[in-house]
Amino acid sequence: MSPARRASRARTVGTVYLVGAGPGDPGLITVRGLAALRSADVVVYDRLGVSSSLLDLAPGAEKIYAGKSARRHAMTQAQINRLLVSHARRGSSVVRLKGGDPFVFGRGGEEAEALIAAGIPFEVIPGVTSAIAGPASAGIPLTHRDWAASVAIATAHEAPGKAGSRLDWEGLARADTVVLLMGVERLVDAAAALIAAGKKRSTPAAVIASATLPSQRTVTAPLFRIAAAAKREGISPPAVTIVGDVVRLREVLGGWDTRPLSGVRVLVTRTREQASELSGVLRELGAEVVEAPAIRVEPPKSWTAVDRAVSRLREGRYEWVVFTSANGVRMFFARLRAARLDARAFGGVRVAAVGTGTADALHGFGITPDLIPPTFTTDAIGKAFPRGQGSVLLARADKTEPGLEESLRAKGWTPERLVVYRLRAVARLAPAVRRQVLDGEIDVLTFASGGTVRAFMRLLRAKPPRRVKVAVIGPVTARAAKEAGLRVDAIAREHTIPGLAAAAVAAMTRKARRRRRRS
Ligand code: SAH
Repeated sequence: MSPARRASRARTVGTVYLVGAGPGDPGLITVRGLAALRSADVVVYDRLGVSSSLLDLAPGAEKIYAGKSARRHAMTQAQINRLLVSHARRGSSVVRLKGGDPFVFGRGGEEAEALIAAGIPFEVIPGVTSAIAGPASAGIPLTHRDWAASVAIATAHEAPGKAGSRLDWEGLARADTVVLLMGVERLVDAAAALIAAGKKRSTPAAVIASATLPSQRTVTAPLFRIAAAAKREGISPPAVTIVGDVVRLREVLGGWDTRPLSGVRVLVTRTREQASELSGVLRELGAEVVEAPAIRVEPPKSWTAVDRAVSRLREGRYEWVVFTSANGVRMFFARLRAARLDARAFGGVRVAAVGTGTADALHGFGITPDLIPPTFTTDAIGKAFPRGQGSVLLARADKTEPGLEESLRAKGWTPERLVVYRLRAVARLAPAVRRQVLDGEIDVLTFASGGTVRAFMRLLRAKPPRRVKVAVIGPVTARAAKEAGLRVDAIAREHTIPGLAAAAVAAMTRKARRRRRRS
């Protein structure tokens, strides 16, 4: 870079975007907020409302946790302001990502003032505030032609009657609908203050915790009993409280979330690389997903055998190449790429895939498989294979059953088993996840392979309670689960990831649901 350019680059100041992340569900960020996030160099984020899947949308950005939560301030407001200014001065595009809307009890105003004082350009990208989305997600509109024409939004953080408290409770009580943010622990005082200020004791009230998240919970009661009800139900922050006749509408409107897994917590035990597809399908069905990989994918001890197979492939020595997992496809092509090769190395060789997931992985590398068995198991590949002669390369994991080789041999082929990756149990299960499983706080365990079941049960070192359901991808995994001491509640009819998600639904509906969190 020329000195002149460097100088002009140094003078370019980056823009700070004060972005509202929405109340929790990552789908509730605005299109514009998402665009800012995608092109950010630096993201400074809070805990509340900012899900990790939103942060994943800024893969290249430096992520700085400002960590403001009610009790613990990881950074002071002044430190956050300085941070925004210094990164912008370095020329970075900075996203300041805040839960809900940045200007609703978000201290976005203070940050904007600091940016103006420092001469930093900024833009405010509003967000969906929990004050509105919280009640909405519980089926409560803030206004309604028949019930409410005015809304007041306040923070219940300040103790009523506290010296210096600026809350005008009489003023608040005059609004048809009152929404209180923060301070669920002070709800008893806030409710008393509203009643003292003139709100009827019997006014309907609701507390909505973790709104728009799978763990959302709602408690309703008349105003004078709402604090006790929330306490009894173990409601914890973040929560919004709404007071007013509109809360009655929940009885009519509250049933809109009829997704089959809403309120259900599902454990995904697949490898880190593979978890997201299953998690995505489960989330769309409304589930709260907990990811705890029990196994991880490792390369083979040495690449010698794989490299030899690759040269044989290029020489046209195989009639078929068989892939029994998407992992196998990824590892094989990673090695091809390392040798600066691609799909063309296959020439005219025919390719078989165990199922649609493996086929999709192959499509990604430019290969359309010639054979996918009608049911997606390795046994079914053997059955579906034509008779013939010549070498068949099986790109597989280590420690697999010899059944496929045997059935290919019976059809005249010469199978050649190649270990393209190894599956290893992870060192340990996150203690929090282990506890959730053993305490029955997870509703469904999902398994997509026998190896995963075995690894998981070794890590768990105990049997989960009976109320924890088990859903598996197919008969082989079901057998492994039973051998490991689990009771299998549902086996996927189609041995695919969507099939496994459907099995999780079946596992939950087969017997009456014990608890539905999203009430
Ligand atoms: N700027 C945010 C509010 C920040 S103050 C917004 O516009 O939503 C933090 C308070 O917001 C919490 O104490 C809680 O009252 C509320 N809140 C934030 N996210 C919430 C959620 N998902 N569910 C319920 N309340 C939430």
